[in-house]
Amino acid sequence: MRPAHALIDLSALRHNYHLARSLTGCRALAVVKANAYGHGALECAAALADDVDGFAVSAIEEALVLREAGHRQPIVLLEGWFEAAELELICRHELWPVVHHHGQLADLEQADLRQPLHVWLKLDSGMHRTGFSAGEYPAIWRRLQGNSKVASLTKITHFSRADEPETGRTEQQMETFLQATDGLQGPASLSNSAGVLAWPGAHGDWVRPGIMLYGSSPFGFEQPQATQLRPVMQLDSRVIAVHQIAAGEPIGYGSRFVTQRPSRIGVVAMGYADGYPRHAPDGTPVLVDGQRTCISGRVSMDMLTIDLTDLPASGLGSPVRLWGEGLDAGEVASHAGTISYQLFCNLNRVPRHYRD
Ligand SMILES: *Cc1c(COP(=O)(O)O)cnc(C)c1O
Repeated sequence: MRPAHALIDLSALRHNYHLARSLTGCRALAVVKANAYGHGALECAAALADDVDGFAVSAIEEALVLREAGHRQPIVLLEGWFEAAELELICRHELWPVVHHHGQLADLEQADLRQPLHVWLKLDSGMHRTGFSAGEYPAIWRRLQGNSKVASLTKITHFSRADEPETGRTEQQMETFLQATDGLQGPASLSNSAGVLAWPGAHGDWVRPGIMLYGSSPFGFEQPQATQLRPVMQLDSRVIAVHQIAAGEPIGYGSRFVTQRPSRIGVVAMGYADGYPRHAPDGTPVLVDGQRTCISGRVSMDMLTIDLTDLPASGLGSPVRLWGEGLDAGEVASHAGTISYQLFCNLNRVPRHYRD
């Protein structure tokens, strides 16, 4: 069998979840949208099931998969519903929708519901993606408070730059949140992973850790709390061919890399069809037998090429780690001009194996 695979460490996932709770003392929604950032939503939910306070997903499709697997915890729908017809299922499965625009408000007020809903009312505190403006928020809150279709109301907002502590933006968003929600009684939820790790004043009652559950730091710098995370996904493969190549020879498509010296080039069973970024430049790190070397030549669909010249003991069959323990996915991502989130979500074709 092709040796490319992702090994998912479920005990690391639980460790990271508990870190989010212990850093904040809050209830924590495990964000398992997008197939748990490529880690497998059902497997991750099962691994967290005994501990978790609730889950968050982007939409009802993702929530129903969890309900069908028997998970009874609260599930927050981070974008609420897209069509009013979903409200019936949201009610039946006791999902907790975010309400973030006037169309949803109208749907809710017109709906004929079998039981009242737990609503998370979204404030746009400055990201300007979803949510009601600070000016209109208190009136909408009071309007829903008096509505028999609403069982409870939770305040929710989202930070745009919590991973950049020096910009002042998070302080502004917190200030906007405090002003807009002044006097509105009820639980609050502000923080994503960066908020959990770096913004102790922004934890509220519920936190919403996503990327940190998977052991990857949201920060582009060394952050003290984030050093306690344990990577969950190890993306591994093996060397499937080795070639001695003279100096001055091009390697792979487009001849992007040209050997500067007589080189041993290894071919690895991993390509962009597996989700490895095609735009990873020469110099992007990989681990071979636990030692660092790098990509040399353009990544192709099923294979990529690496420089083994300085690793004479490594060769055909040597294990290759693309990211995971020993090689931070965030570092690989920054070489490729993206973030670890996207690397994880793009994972494709490779079988996922689980260890606990
Ligand atoms: C995805 C998402 C999160 C999780 O963000 P991370 O940066 O992965 O921790 C939290 N809240 C909302 C509203 C989201 O959409």
